[in-house]
Parts: sequence; C-alpha cells; structure tokens
Amino acid sequence: MARQARAEGRLSGFVPTMGALHAGHMSLVRTAMKECRPVIASIFVNPTQFGPNEDFQKYPRTFAADSKQLEEAGVDYLFAPEAAEMYPQGFRTWVNVEGLSDRLDGRSRPGHFRGVTTVVLKLLEIVQPQKAYFGRKDAQQARLIRQMVRDLHLDTEIVVCPIVREPDGLAMSSRNAYLNPNERRAATVLYRALDGARRSIERGERDALRLVAAMRETMRGESSVETEYVELVGAESLEPMALLRGECLALLAARVGATRLIDNLLIEESDAGFRTTL
Ligand code: AMP
Repeated sequence: MARQARAEGRLSGFVPTMGALHAGHMSLVRTAMKECRPVIASIFVNPTQFGPNEDFQKYPRTFAADSKQLEEAGVDYLFAPEAAEMYPQGFRTWVNVEGLSDRLDGRSRPGHFRGVTTVVLKLLEIVQPQKAYFGRKDAQQARLIRQMVRDLHLDTEIVVCPIVREPDGLAMSSRNAYLNPNERRAATVLYRALDGARRSIERGERDALRLVAAMRETMRGESSVETEYVELVGAESLEPMALLRGECLALLAARVGATRLIDNLLIEESDAGFRTTL
C-alpha cells in the first residue's frame, strides 16, 4: 500500500507501536493523519527487545480496543504480525547501532536496543513508508532509529513527536497500567525532578552536574522509587555534558515497585538562551 502511494506521489505514514494504546500513541497517529495518506499503524509486542526477566509475558495486550481506536482515528491499515512471522525458525540477522545502544537504557537493559532497531528495520522494510512517527518519550530509541536510517540509507523520514502527559505530569506509558494507587502517586517524581531542572535552567543554571545532583535529590525524596539513572547528555552523542550546550537531554529511569519508568526533558540552546520542553 505504501509502495503504491509512493508510485502515485502520495505520502505514506507509519506509526509502529506495541499496542495497549493511549493518548501518546494516538497523538502520533493524529500527526501522521495530518501529513500522510495512507496511514499505517502496527501493533507488535516485540519479544527480542525484552530481557529474560522482563515483562514480555505480562505486557498489556488490548488488541480489540486498540484496533477500534485506530479505525476511529481514520488509520487506513493495521499491521499486527505474529512473532513467528517476524522471527521465523532460523532467524539470525541483527542490527545494532554501536555505542549509542550500550548507554542509558541500553546499560540497564542489555540487548534491548538490538531488538528495537532490528524490529524497526524489519517493519520499515515491510511497510516502506515515506514517514515514520516516534515519540520523544523514548528519546534514546528515537536517536538510535535516526542513526540507523542514516547509516543504512533507508528511504524513510523519521518524525519525533512531543511527549503526552497525564494532567499531573506523568508521561503516558502502557506500563503505567501496572501501577497501584500508591505507586501511581509516587511515579510523578520523575516529572517533578525534570520540572525542577527545567525551572533551574529558566533561572539561569547552566551547570549539568548541579542539575543532575538536584534531580537525584528530588528522586531520593520518594523512598518507594528506586532510581536507575539520572543523566544530562548531548542529544546527538548521548554522552554526559558538564555544561549545557547545544541540544541536550536530561534523562531518567526509575523503578516504581516492579514497574520501570523513563522520562526526559529536552533542552535546546538558541540565540535567546535555553528552551526547555517537557
Ligand atoms: P510503544 O507502544 O511503547 O512501543 O510506543 C510506540 C510509540 O509511541 C513510540 O514511538 C513511543 O515513543 C511513543 N510513545 C509512547 N508513549 C508516548 C507518550 N507518552 N507521548 C508520546 N509518544 C509516546
């Protein structure tokens, strides 16, 4: 369908997901619907991006509700393959974005990004979209996918869309469904830490180490939350910065009970100073 659109000069858009759709996913779909036709979504809980002790088995699967939402939003096609179709017996080819995939989430989740980039490459090859939409919620993932598309000369433009949040700031995630009411309240600490950094930057703070220390301190204030990492990195290199410069990301990951959550703040230098986007 996308091949035909390409031949006819139409712009096809693709929104890959693991389902359990929420307003974050649907914002990607809406943006795609504004820019493209046809719009193709996929739902595939990709086994190769889950570690052996992770939540692959219990990951929320709500296919009937998801497909209804996508249809109501006007999505033209839904691709929902079986694991055995994506990874037939004997499968043995992987894509790895070296270096960038070992840091941050890649350090906490060995092999995770190898699974992500491999499945995204396969999906892009199958669907052949002109544009593909990803969320900045998974900022490292978006950075890796951009790199892969550049390195492998893929003919798809990667569009990164803003983070959609709950009214109290918690970034929407399919995994939020795991949180009990106490955990759900505590989970806002990720947003509070990033929002504190945002306010410090607006007041003129430029020292990345002080910003990281303050975020760690905020995280420690929520005793039921176990921080995995707090880092302030260059948006291209994903390497830690000492001072804010150019485009940076403040990134954090934490465990709230058994649930692993991530969030980030985008910091962009301009002539007028630093612009922050939660
Ligand atoms: P997932 O189903 O978690 O693999 O996510 C599918 C796509 O939706 C990815 O590109 C995510 O970055 C994006 N996404 C997930 N949560 C959000 C959110 N709260 N805001 C914006 N995009 C999101």
